[in-house]
Amino acid sequence: MTDAAPGATATPAPTAGKGPILEVEDVVQTFGGIRAVNGATFDVERGSITALIGPNGAGKTTCFNVLTGFYGGNRGSVRFDGEEIFSEPAHRIARRGMVRTFQITKALSRMPVIDNMLLAGPNQPGEHLFNNLIRRGACKEREAEIYEQAQVLLEEFNLAKLQDAYAGTLSGGQRKLLELARALMTQPRLLMLDEPMAGINPTLGARLLEHMERLRTEEGVTFLFVEHDMEVVMNHSDRVIVMAEGKVIAEGLPEEIRENQQVIDAYLGGGAGEKETERTQR
Ligand code: ATP
Repeated sequence: MTDAAPGATATPAPTAGKGPILEVEDVVQTFGGIRAVNGATFDVERGSITALIGPNGAGKTTCFNVLTGFYGGNRGSVRFDGEEIFSEPAHRIARRGMVRTFQITKALSRMPVIDNMLLAGPNQPGEHLFNNLIRRGACKEREAEIYEQAQVLLEEFNLAKLQDAYAGTLSGGQRKLLELARALMTQPRLLMLDEPMAGINPTLGARLLEHMERLRTEEGVTFLFVEHDMEVVMNHSDRVIVMAEGKVIAEGLPEEIRENQQVIDAYLGGGAGEKETERTQR
């Protein structure tokens, strides 16, 4: 997908190495008898691009949902920028600056690209009737700001020409870019992406990765992403966290993870990642 040398890690961000932005400790999420997340513990370094990997069913997506408040979690501690956020509601966690991307749903597909962006803009006083009637000037000013921010992002993501197109008409890759651009409307400090490369062509995938690296380097955004494509993980992340059976079994630099026997065994044992294992062993 890219011409980066295998095993090479991305350029460190200016804010990297100043302690973790996210500290996850002993998080458990059960569904009936299933312990989908079973005592997961890991840190995410500030300003890093961190990959969360593991065989199918390892608990990665469930973990994302607990961290971002979409699942309550049975127990554990999640500290974002030093503050406990475990089982806070999703909207409050997002307001703190810890945001996950969302698929463009059916409803959003039926809206133009620009409206998708505007809807994601935070602090819109015009949402309240009182403001709309009494503070019209302030509402208009904020709307104009949000519109400008949306246009800047669409330009950066090469989507400006498509701003009036219905989101549903975009290609899979363009939708992923729109999902990322929408999430950026909230000006996140930690951005979480679940399988950003799934179903997109290599050109748009490379562009998405370039955006991530630029945002990390220039704006200090931290990324935590779930990914099955080992080439992407090994070439574009600073650190890798590996989950299996609801637990974190390894954490380290991509080149350390590549050699880790426990990781190789987990993929083989899971029977779900032959392709990944092949690549991990390369
Ligand atoms: P994949 O890589 O295949 O997406 P994953 O690592 O993201 O897998 P999860 O989707 O978190 O894994 O699933 C972990 C376990 O929890 C699986 O056994 C799954 O079947 C189960 N699970 C996930 N969500 C639910 C749910 N809402 N209700 C019941 N079981 C669930």
